[in-house]
Amino acid sequence: MSYSEAVTVSKSSVPILAVVILAVIFGFGLFLVGYDQGHLFSIIQGAEAFDDLFIHELTHDMRHAAGFPCH
Ligand SMILES: [Zn+2]
Repeated sequence: MSYSEAVTVSKSSVPILAVVILAVIFGFGLFLVGYDQGHLFSIIQGAEAFDDLFIHELTHDMRHAAGFPCH
């Protein structure tokens, strides 16, 4: 008596491009929440952005909850 056996090998992996894009988004988010002191808005708004600190005030509680020092 003979029998046949089918073996299915599926190779799936995460595309490198997706990992790179997610790493860039993560890095941008980390900068935005943890380190931005008006740098991002200063591109458009100029030096006044460093006094207004819109992003800093927006993410202030999240920044403290994540353990980033700010004051
Ligand atoms: Zn603070």
